[in-house]
Formats: sequence, C-alpha cells, structure tokens
Amino acid sequence: MANSRFEYVKLFERENPLLPDTYIVLRVDGKGFHKFSAHYGFEKPNDAKALDVMNQAALSVMTKYPDVSMAYGDSDEYSFLLRKSCDLYERREMKLITTFASAFTTEYYYWWTQLFPEKPLDHERLPQFDCRAVVYPNFQVVKDYFSWRQADCHINNLYNTTFWTLVQKGNLTPQQAEQRLSGTLAADKNEILFSEFGINYNNEPEMYKKGTVLVREITEPEKQEQLSDRQKQREQKKRRKAEIKTLHCDIIKDDFWQQRPYLE
Ligand code: ATP
Ligand code: ATP
Ligand code: MG
Ligand code: MG
Repeated sequence: MANSRFEYVKLFERENPLLPDTYIVLRVDGKGFHKFSAHYGFEKPNDAKALDVMNQAALSVMTKYPDVSMAYGDSDEYSFLLRKSCDLYERREMKLITTFASAFTTEYYYWWTQLFPEKPLDHERLPQFDCRAVVYPNFQVVKDYFSWRQADCHINNLYNTTFWTLVQKGNLTPQQAEQRLSGTLAADKNEILFSEFGINYNNEPEMYKKGTVLVREITEPEKQEQLSDRQKQREQKKRRKAEIKTLHCDIIKDDFWQQRPYLE
C-alpha cells in the first residue's frame, strides 16, 4: 500500500510487549454476571449448566490456542496459562487480551445456544467478558496464582452455599442471611449447614467446591531450551494433538504440579 500523508498518525500507537521468558496468565471475567445470572434465572448458589457453558467455552478457546497449557475457572471467570516460551502475537498485550476476551465471549454465546436452547439470549442482555494479562516471573508464583483463585472459589462457594441454604431452606430474607453470616468463620458456616440443615459441605459437588481445571496432557515434551524451527513446529503439533483433560481437583497441594512437570 502506498504511503499517504496521513500515515504519521500511526506514530501515536503504543504497544506493550509482555516480558519475554515469563509466564503469561490471561484472566477473563463476565461483565455484570450478578445481574446476568438473575436475569436468566440461574439456580442459586450454583447453576451447573451455566458452569458447563463456561467450561465448554474455555475448552474451545484452549483447543484453538495450543500455547495455553492449562486453564482454571469458577463462577464467571477463567484463567489461561500460556507457556513461558509462547510467542503468540509477539506477546503484544493488546492483541492477547482483546483476542481472548472476544474469543471467550463468542464461544460463550455459541455454547449457551447449544446448552440452553430454551433460553435464547436477549439482545439487551448479551454476555460480555473482559480480560487482563499478568506476567509471572517463575513457576512458584504461577502455582500460588492458581492456588489463590482456587482458595477464592472455596471461600465464595462456602459463603454462597450457606447464604442460599439460609434463604431457601431457613426462610430468612437475603438481608437476614447476610446479617447471620457477618463475621462468621469457615467453621461456623460448616456448623450452620450441618447442625441446622443436615448438610455436610464436604459432600457438595467437587465442581462447586474446587472449580474446573483444564490441562493439556503432553507426553514426551521437548526437553531442550533452544529448539530449532523444525523442533518448534513438531512441539506445536504435539501440543495441538494432546488431549485436554477436565478435572475438579485440588491444585493448592503439590501433587497436581508434581505429576505434571511439563507445565513448568
Ligand atoms: P463485574 O462486572 O465487576 O465482574 P459481576 O456481577 O460479574 O461484576 P463477579 O464478582 O464477577 O461480579 O461475580 C459473578 C457473579 O455471578 C457471582 O456473584 C455469582 O452470583 C454469579 N454467577 C456466576 N456464575 C454462576 C453460576 N454458575 N450459578 C450461579 N451464579 C453464578
Ligand atoms: P489480523 O488478525 O492481523 O488482523 P487480518 O487477516 O484480519 O489479520 P486485516 O489487515 O485486518 O488482516 O485485513 C482484513 C482483511 O479482511 C482484508 O484484507 C480484506 O481482504 C478482508 N475483508 C474484511 N472485510 C471485508 C469485506 N467486507 N469484504 C471483503 N473482504 C473483507
Ligand atoms: Mg464478573
Ligand atoms: Mg467474577
């Protein structure tokens, strides 16, 4: 394309290439899902099918982007871990976050129509996701990042389970339930569930308590640090073909990571 005298405006554009050789995490989160979930009548505290929509959307995104080595999600959020040597979009932050936000949003829309044919989406209340990117300098921080998200899932789910039990089975108003729970510790919530409603929190579904882990199970990953172009292509093909497993397991303890050294 011939240069025009207008082309100088390009000089105003700024790129933010993310630090090389670090782990990139892209986290998408639903916009206003408190209202979204009320509008579409999600079962409270957990609508299993709505979580399936999230999980299918994440699985599709991960299938399309082989650089994602694992993902973790709960509620209306999903975190995608890109491998350290990932060079997707030359690691340009704007490209990465806008692409993941829109890829996740369109996949969510698609899977919603598949799983909720009886609930067409209203034009006035379409699902939307934002995305942020954070780089982590070593694998210990990456493990701590995912532990943080899973701990958050646990805290929220214990609270929500107790809150909605008090409302649905204890006939409290939402305000009364909130007051009842203010200042309580985890042990107190477990006790309310057990002694007043005969619910053992440990027996709640794993997907609700632990969230969902998607992991690309790679057999025989390339060991060397510096790969030739051919080796890189082979590696990428292997990643593309690798099975993606869906788990609802503990990722705070070391076992999960020790069993999968190729994530590092
Ligand atoms: P923001 O736009 O700032 O993210 P938000 O309303 O989406 O606002 P979040 O903190 O992201 O706030 O919380 C998401 C809300 O969506 C939760 O409070 C929860 O009530 C609801 N939600 C998401 N998924 C489900 C689900 N599967 N079942 C029931 N409720 C859900
Ligand atoms: P990138 O992902 O880097 O943006 P791209 O393939 O989208 O790659 P663009 O520079 O954005 O590249 O170019 C968009 C291309 O889409 C154009 O080359 C044009 O051929 C095609 N295109 C877009 N809209 C139309 C249209 N309405 N009719 C025909 N072709 C179109
Ligand atoms: Mg949200
Ligand atoms: Mg959220």
